[in-house]
Amino acid sequence: MTLTALGIAPDQCLIAGHWVAPANGARLVLSNPSDGTALCDIARGDADDIDRAVLAAQGALAGDWGRGTAVERGRVLARIGQLVLENVDALAQLEALDVGKPLTQARADVIALARYMEFYAGSADKLHGETIPYLDGYTVYTLREAHGVTGHIIPWNYPMQIIGRSVGAALATGNACVLKPAEEACLTALAFGELAMRAGLPAGALNVVPGLGAEAGAALTAHPGVQHISFTGSVGVGKLIQRVAAEHVVPVTLELGGKSPQVVFEDADVDAALPFLVNAGIQNAGQTCSASSRILVHESRYEEVLSKMADRYRGLQTGPALADLNVGPLVSNRQKEIVDGFIAQGSDLEIAARGSIVADAPAGGAYVAPTLFAGVAPEHTLAQDEIFGPVQVVIPFKDEDHAVAIANGTKFGLVASCWTKDGARQMRMAKKLRAGQVFINNYGAGGGVELPFGGTGLSGHGREKGFEALYGFTTLKTVAAFHG
Ligand code: ADP
Repeated sequence: MTLTALGIAPDQCLIAGHWVAPANGARLVLSNPSDGTALCDIARGDADDIDRAVLAAQGALAGDWGRGTAVERGRVLARIGQLVLENVDALAQLEALDVGKPLTQARADVIALARYMEFYAGSADKLHGETIPYLDGYTVYTLREAHGVTGHIIPWNYPMQIIGRSVGAALATGNACVLKPAEEACLTALAFGELAMRAGLPAGALNVVPGLGAEAGAALTAHPGVQHISFTGSVGVGKLIQRVAAEHVVPVTLELGGKSPQVVFEDADVDAALPFLVNAGIQNAGQTCSASSRILVHESRYEEVLSKMADRYRGLQTGPALADLNVGPLVSNRQKEIVDGFIAQGSDLEIAARGSIVADAPAGGAYVAPTLFAGVAPEHTLAQDEIFGPVQVVIPFKDEDHAVAIANGTKFGLVASCWTKDGARQMRMAKKLRAGQVFINNYGAGGGVELPFGGTGLSGHGREKGFEALYGFTTLKTVAAFHG
């Protein structure tokens, strides 16, 4: 397929409904992580392009988009979702080439994007304020209003899903968006913008400006015309964004990753758990904020779980995205170096098993064989730091309190799960685990768009996904009318 199959201009920005060259004419090279070759040039947008995009968004708010009704917003989102589905193959190919995702996983992301559009289309006209009983002679009610211009800074690991959950909810509530995709992967963000235009989204309601984080990203965060920032990415950049946004007292939603545990108790159905234990660690080559990188196992089942996980690991194949194996390359060779560095830090540990890299995987690709470490101390770097690669550690525990202490013993708190048949223990664990999402006898629940998502601690704050996101993308106005 050609990169322009969806009508995108890969080396341009999408501003005010038009494909436009970056003001400074600068470009970046996008590479294919499966073989390290150059895919195409992309725009290296900077502060001037962000400024144009914010102006376009303000224009949309002052025009048809801002005046539109919730029903109309819902309808246009539904049409976008439909177009996304009609182009599932082209979008999946684009994502596979750009991010290195095995095609099946890329396809699942497209379907999730369409589902976000469907969900937020349906929710647009169902978000409403309340009336509040008050003093005699008053009628008091609340209005949920759009922030205005919202900035969306997204990473390269799940571009389509993150666009779906953040831009979808922001548009449903009547904001106008400026989207800054990651410099490593921005093609599906551009394609989404094109499809949104074709679906009839008014010009300027969604603008896409690719570029570097320190340039376009920083300019978007600091722009005085932006009223809300939604960021998904690293802890370091998240802290920076919160500091910069504080300058204008702009609210931020930060989703910064995790070190999410699955806790396997002595009464767990291990065979039912097994696919979740492994897949949650290696999906998208472990480059998932909600990856489960720590597997905590009661000591009575430790050897069994370890050997069953190791068997699965030995069957995992890593190779080019289009070969559609279990695991694709990492997004870049830079990311591969980081992950290889972590694996090297485990030289004092036992490697229980590794998957394989297929023999014909191109030498320039960013491949890392999935790696399972055994008997890891909870305080070890590999059990504390987010690795963002196909690496999991297995940690034994003695009893429930010990499991909770280990599970909660990192600076993160995004997702956690427990595997047990004991109903009382399920309820206790759900309360005790420090995480924005807790799963019982599953992990991720299929990632449903309905499920509010976000973290605590270094995992960030604010919630995206589900109906909850609509509150984050709106501000509440209280109206008190005195009529005597
Ligand atoms: P990763 O290390 O996984 O690439 P980052 O946090 O660096 O994650 O990147 C996530 C997103 O944040 C990308 O779109 C990137 O361009 C952007 N970004 C990076 N640095 C900054 C910054 N200083 N200000 C705003 N955005 C940034």
